[in-house]
Amino acid sequence: MDDNKKVRVRFAPSPTGYVHIGSLRTALYCYLFAKKTGGDFILKIEDTDQKRYVEGSVESLIKSLNWLGLNWNEGVFLDEMIFEKSNGIKSKTYPAVLEVGDFGPYVQSEKLEIYKKYVDQLVKDGHAYYCFCEPERLEKMRNDLIAEKKAPMYDRYCLHNVSEENINKNLKDNCRYTIRMKIPQGEIIEAKDLVRGKVKFNTNLIDDQILLKSDGFPTYHLANMIDDHEMGITHVIRGEEWLPSLPKHILLYRYFGWQAPEFAHLPLLLNSDKTKLSKRQGDVAVEDYIKKGYLKEAIINFVALLGWNPGSGETQEIFSLSDLVQKFELKKVHKAGAVFDLKKLDWINAEYIKKLSIDELYEKALPFFKQKEFFIQANKEKQAPEFLKKVLTVELDRLSKLSDAGENNQFFFADDLSYEKKLLRWKEMNNADLKKILEKSKEILENISAENWSKENLEKILMEAAGDRRGELLWPLRASLTGVQKSPSPFEVAWVLGKPESLKRIKKAIDLLD
Ligand code: GLU
Repeated sequence: MDDNKKVRVRFAPSPTGYVHIGSLRTALYCYLFAKKTGGDFILKIEDTDQKRYVEGSVESLIKSLNWLGLNWNEGVFLDEMIFEKSNGIKSKTYPAVLEVGDFGPYVQSEKLEIYKKYVDQLVKDGHAYYCFCEPERLEKMRNDLIAEKKAPMYDRYCLHNVSEENINKNLKDNCRYTIRMKIPQGEIIEAKDLVRGKVKFNTNLIDDQILLKSDGFPTYHLANMIDDHEMGITHVIRGEEWLPSLPKHILLYRYFGWQAPEFAHLPLLLNSDKTKLSKRQGDVAVEDYIKKGYLKEAIINFVALLGWNPGSGETQEIFSLSDLVQKFELKKVHKAGAVFDLKKLDWINAEYIKKLSIDELYEKALPFFKQKEFFIQANKEKQAPEFLKKVLTVELDRLSKLSDAGENNQFFFADDLSYEKKLLRWKEMNNADLKKILEKSKEILENISAENWSKENLEKILMEAAGDRRGELLWPLRASLTGVQKSPSPFEVAWVLGKPESLKRIKKAIDLLD
């Protein structure tokens, strides 16, 4: 590639329902590479597989990428997105989508005529041919080959057996056809991949790829490389599943006499048992992670580390998007598959949650509270911002995702706790002593004024009173305030609940012991 040429990279998702976490990784690496090199980042839509199309998914994938902050400067946008460029045109296929840039259309289904023109050229030049084989014939051929333990490749029946005359007749009769690429035999195709270095392919093992399907739509192989050429794409960054297709694409560039872009194939994502990341073993849709309350910064940070790290002994694990732009290098992308470790995502998310102010955390956590039964049932005071902010202050260091807010500490929201008497007991303490110690706690708390009702004060006063017999005083107190085995400290809980409610709960425990 000419070194002075401006870098242009594209992310080319297919609207199949959701953004796969692996797709997001591709999008992120494209974004980082473009930003790092001062290049353009383009979003285009590959919607030529009509069978896999899911209504609404173009719009939702644009929304998700926008929410994540991966700003692209060309391609498809949503009407509602605000950006300076005013030269957008409405997409013909997706009414809410605006196409912006000089290299459109950015939606493949809007380019069928363009692809047809190019594929006709290939046929004319003898690099592609009409195939009139019926699906049943192809199916049988494939099954026979598989039974013989051979690769299920097309036998080139139509290349060798259909005359020019018959082709024309079939076309006139509107016979169903596909157009296949003619792969040269006995050639080794060599290419350079920016992640894996030199790669080689034997053309004898490559099937005569269908370029144009019988529904008139191009396959990925044709459409994608024509777009890349027409859009002036300099670097194709995509998942490793496309590596076996690389020789077909290189041949197509050769057939058209175009210069191929540079290629980088990103490593597979794996489950912890090293099998290919699959839906069965957990969520692969980015939208699910957003719904569960992972912060965008954490999702980006986590995804960036799936197949890349700054290397050279650096141990940094928390990266902002701008850190990533600075440090990212394609040549440091790993060749080996990247294991998807949910625990790590939780850890990273917790780190980002800790950095939020309580007001920020409140804003982000409120929609999640609103979905929870314990919150909906709570009285008005406990739904108020002041109360929630106190709960969140206590939870801040312990939260791994926003959807967990309040979840493990539902006792805060209850009007009345229900628990068994034995929960109050510290070790072998008898009923009478237990009552006495709770009375003592009650008295101590009664003497703390509302103004002095701070976490620090509560801790100081109660710790002094407990002396070196902490459990004796603090366990029954904590149990009476929470009604559960495990919770934050009694100082924190009493602070959140406030004086009247704390005293009410202790009183109830004392009554329970009678
Ligand atoms: N539509 C393809 C996919 O979603 C794009 C592959 C590419 O970037 O070339 O995997």
